[in-house]
Amino acid sequence: MSIRHEKEKGVNVQVLLRCRPFSDEESRKNAPQVVCNEYQREVAVSQSIAGKHIDRVFTFDKVFGPSAQQEDLYEQAMVPIVNEVLEGFNCTIFAYGQTGTGKTYTMEGECKRSKSGPNGELPPEAGVIPRAVKQIFDTLESQNAEYSVKVTFLELYNEEITDLLAPDEISKVALEEKQKKQLPLMEDGKGGVLVRGLEEEIVTSASEIFTLLERGSAKRRTAETLLNKQSSRSHSLFSITIHIKEATPEGEELIKCGKLNLVDLAGSENISRSGAREGRAREAGEINKSLLTLGRVINALVEHLGHVPYRDSKLTRLLRDSLGGRTKTCIIATVSPAVHCLEETLSTLDYAHRAK
Ligand code: ADP
Ligand code: MG
Repeated sequence: MSIRHEKEKGVNVQVLLRCRPFSDEESRKNAPQVVCNEYQREVAVSQSIAGKHIDRVFTFDKVFGPSAQQEDLYEQAMVPIVNEVLEGFNCTIFAYGQTGTGKTYTMEGECKRSKSGPNGELPPEAGVIPRAVKQIFDTLESQNAEYSVKVTFLELYNEEITDLLAPDEISKVALEEKQKKQLPLMEDGKGGVLVRGLEEEIVTSASEIFTLLERGSAKRRTAETLLNKQSSRSHSLFSITIHIKEATPEGEELIKCGKLNLVDLAGSENISRSGAREGRAREAGEINKSLLTLGRVINALVEHLGHVPYRDSKLTRLLRDSLGGRTKTCIIATVSPAVHCLEETLSTLDYAHRAK
C-alpha cells in the first residue's frame, strides 16, 4: 500500500503524525521511548531489537509529539480544512494507526469529560469533531446568511453499515434482524452515494454535538457487546453537511454545499499482521476490505491511474464524492511512544511516510 503526495498534480493529501504520551502503565514500567527527536516535520527511530539496529528518520507535513494538545493539532492543521468545507468543498480527515494509539482520542476526544462551558467554550480534551462543529457554527453565525447543518454517524464492520444515530431499540434480536436487512448504498446520480434509511440529524448549535457523540458511542458499545464484535476492526464515519444560501451581486440565489467526513479507521494492525506487506493482499482484504481498498484508492488518485477502485469497498464508495478532484484529504497517523509497539509503529510510519 503506498500513497504519494503530489501537490503539483493537484491532489491534495496531507499527512500528519501524532505520537501520544506514555500511558500510566507504560510510565510505571519505565518503557524506553522509541519515537524521539521531535522536530517540526521529522521523527527519528533509533533502537536495537533482536540484534538488529534500526536507525531511521521519517518526514511528514507536520509532527505532533506527546506534549501536543488537542487544540494545537486543531489550530495548526484542521482549521484550513474546515474553512475549505465552509467554502463549499468536500474534505476528509482520517485517523490511521494501531489500536490504542489515540485515533478516537484525536477524533472525538474524551466524551465523558467533554461538556461545553456556559459560553460554549470547549474542554481541552475535545477532539477534532467537536472543534470542527464549533468552528462551523462560529463562522456561520457571524455571517448574514441562511444555513443548515446536518450530521450522520455510522459504523462499518465487515462491510456492514450500522447507523449510530438511529433512535431504534438496541437488543440482540433487533440488531441481528437489522444485520439481515443491511442499509443499502445507492448512487445519488451526482457522483455521490446515499445510504438509504440513514438518520440525518439537523444540528443547530455546537453544544448538541456531545449528545450525538455520546449517543453514537453508547450504541457502538452495546452492539459490540451483544454481537461479539471486535471494536478495533470497525471504522466509524461522522459526516457534517453544510448548506449555505447566499445572494450573488446580481441578486441571484446561490447554495453552497460542503461536506466534512471524519473517519476513525479500524486498527492498522488488522492489515499489517495479516501479511499485507508480504503481498498476501487477498487474505488481508477479507479481514478488512475497506482499510485495504482505501490505500489503493488514495494511491490511484495521487498516481493518476485511470481506474480508481472506489467500488471495491463500502468505505470508499461512501467517500467517493469526497476523495479526489477538488477535495482536501488529511491522514493523521497515530503511534505509541513505547518500545513494545515498535513493530506496529514502524509499519504506521512507513505507511504514512510513503504518502509524502
Ligand atoms: P485508539 O482509538 O487508536 O484505539 P484511543 O483513542 O482509545 O486509541 O486511545 C487509547 C488511550 O490513550 C485512551 O485512554 C486515550 O485517552 C489515551 N490517549 C491517546 N492519545 C492521547 C493523547 N494525545 N494525550 C493523552 N491521552 C491520549
Ligand atoms: Mg478507537
